Amino acid sequence: MPLVSASPFPVLAFPRAGRTASPAPDPDRILLSPPHLTGGELASLQATLAAGWVAPAGPVPAAFEAAVAKVTGFPHVLAVASGTAALHLGYRILGLTAGDEVWTATLTYVATIAPAVQMGARPRFLDVAADSWTLDPELLERELTRAARRGRLPRAVVPVDIFGQSCDLDAIRGLCDRWGVPVLCDSAEALGAMRRGRHAGLGARLAAFSFNGNKIVTTGGGGALASEDAGLIAEARHLATQAKEPAPHYQHETTGFSYGLSSILAAVGLAQLGVLPARVAARRAIFEAYVAGLGDLPGIGFMPEPAWSRSTRWLSVVTLDPRRGGPDREAARRALAEAGIEARPVWKPLHLQPVFRGAPQAGGAVAAGLFEHGLCLPSGSGLSPAEQGRVIATLRRLWPG
Ligand SMILES: *Cc1c(COP(=O)(O)O)cnc(C)c1O
Repeated sequence: MPLVSASPFPVLAFPRAGRTASPAPDPDRILLSPPHLTGGELASLQATLAAGWVAPAGPVPAAFEAAVAKVTGFPHVLAVASGTAALHLGYRILGLTAGDEVWTATLTYVATIAPAVQMGARPRFLDVAADSWTLDPELLERELTRAARRGRLPRAVVPVDIFGQSCDLDAIRGLCDRWGVPVLCDSAEALGAMRRGRHAGLGARLAAFSFNGNKIVTTGGGGALASEDAGLIAEARHLATQAKEPAPHYQHETTGFSYGLSSILAAVGLAQLGVLPARVAARRAIFEAYVAGLGDLPGIGFMPEPAWSRSTRWLSVVTLDPRRGGPDREAARRALAEAGIEARPVWKPLHLQPVFRGAPQAGGAVAAGLFEHGLCLPSGSGLSPAEQGRVIATLRRLWPG
């Protein structure tokens, strides 16, 4: 490649990803959810670069948006630089202003609410249902009824599709419609997930997806905002490209963002999206292998999948109850770490995060219990049976006998 040999910077001299992570290089290290390349990325990149496309504009991001629309069923999609950027645009489109309340599930990653807080919103954290680990519709109904009575409805409700499982968006949407509260669904972890035959996020006013390196498919870093409302996505597109009015000198009636997804990353994403069904099947098979390999152990449980849900099992999550004879979550996590295996606690609920101390909440005990007992196990779609066998064997040694 002439571009490489002409450069004084040796781009081919990097160590292989995931093989030299600190503290010590370990060729056998097993990661939680590393990127899984298809082999088609290079051809896609070469075609894109050969045609001269690099910027966050033109036919490559457009083709990526069309591909996201196809796999999700959303008619209108905007590709952006990250899932967090998609959420930020979503909050802006919903007209969030300082002092507004935003309600979200407490069991989530901080990115769900960070942009809203940065816009001056006041977050309120609602517990999740034990049967899905997603926003509890019964609790939401109680809280919306109470808020309506006090005349203090939230500006938006933001349910989260967690670990590859859709929330019960049909119930949530029905409740929010009753009081005219818009739903922005954080579907960052749920590309490929279904509920009642529809894709995760579909039915919300807006849904945000992520293509970060750890997600089920990746652009390297990227996201998408999706809607069934063409006007909302057109407005988001305007804001994502610095809100330039059509004038040769760029006229501005508001300020926007530089949030577009570059053609280079979109090219990677096009190759990745093509294998999404295979990635879902692989992650689900990994979950089933954990159930088969660990399910007999006392005190172990697995993330539930309600009848209405078809999870991608983006992450395989177990719960550990040491009162029934096995290890607790931290003992298991540490034993795995010592064996060179990355595992992580379930998301620390936002109502327990120091940064949100004092924020109002509704319930929280279910999420707190999942944080105490829940452990995410290596779930990458490239995980080999031998590697998964190592994870299972390492865990099994923690039970007596
Ligand atoms: C990954 C993730 C995001 C953010 O996506 P980025 O692309 O990393 O910005 C938001 N919410 C949840 C629940 C996520 O898991």
